[in-house]
Amino acid sequence: MNEQITLLAQLAAIDANLDELHDELGDLPQDVKSLEQIVRQKSELAESTRLQLDELEHLKSNSHIMMQELHDKEVKLSEQQFQVKNNREFDAITKEIDHVKMERAVLDEKLRTSAVKHENLSAQLEIQQAELNVARDNLKEKEQELELLTGDHNEELKKFIDHRLKVIAKLDDSIEAEYERIRTFHREAAVCIKRNSCSGCFSAIPSQRIMEMKYNRDKMYTCENCGRILYTEDIQAGVDAMVEEGNL
Ligand SMILES: [Zn+2]
Repeated sequence: MNEQITLLAQLAAIDANLDELHDELGDLPQDVKSLEQIVRQKSELAESTRLQLDELEHLKSNSHIMMQELHDKEVKLSEQQFQVKNNREFDAITKEIDHVKMERAVLDEKLRTSAVKHENLSAQLEIQQAELNVARDNLKEKEQELELLTGDHNEELKKFIDHRLKVIAKLDDSIEAEYERIRTFHREAAVCIKRNSCSGCFSAIPSQRIMEMKYNRDKMYTCENCGRILYTEDIQAGVDAMVEEGNL
């Protein structure tokens, strides 16, 4: 247990460092993710406007041929109408001619409004593209910020994570589980007793209990007020010495 409580104190020191590193990154990873999403949305929007413009241009460049084809069709049908043998055929061709006329009217209307539409879409695209560029710049900036920080952090992170794995390997599973359970509600799950108080919640610990802890190393003590695992100052001193020597 003596070794176990020392290992817990080491684990607490490592986790405090890892928490600090994590805090320094702050909201950056989340910020990058939401900016990525904004860029994606803005890019889709501009793309859809571009497609509509393409369609309009396609219409404009083909309208002449389409009009001509409809016109030819109508002329041909009109000629056929003179050669019908009965009313039924006449009616059928009339219906076809009406249909062609309607197609021409629709095409005419499309062409009539296409210039204004084109103008509106172009203006819209310009705004969307500008917004997309701003969003991309913002994303790039945040990405660089994050990269810079994680670059510095990676070495340290690796060191602490390696050390954490070594400590955990030597720690009893049940003790580790208890530590992790406490950590779900207290960031510092194992704390040192300082000036006869729990350094997590500052409630006083009777000196007799502290004595008991020193002579009863095979028992795990927790703070009766906050539930954190407690260890005595001599153990903290050992951990501090390890930090000093660069072993933690
Ligand atoms: Zn406490």
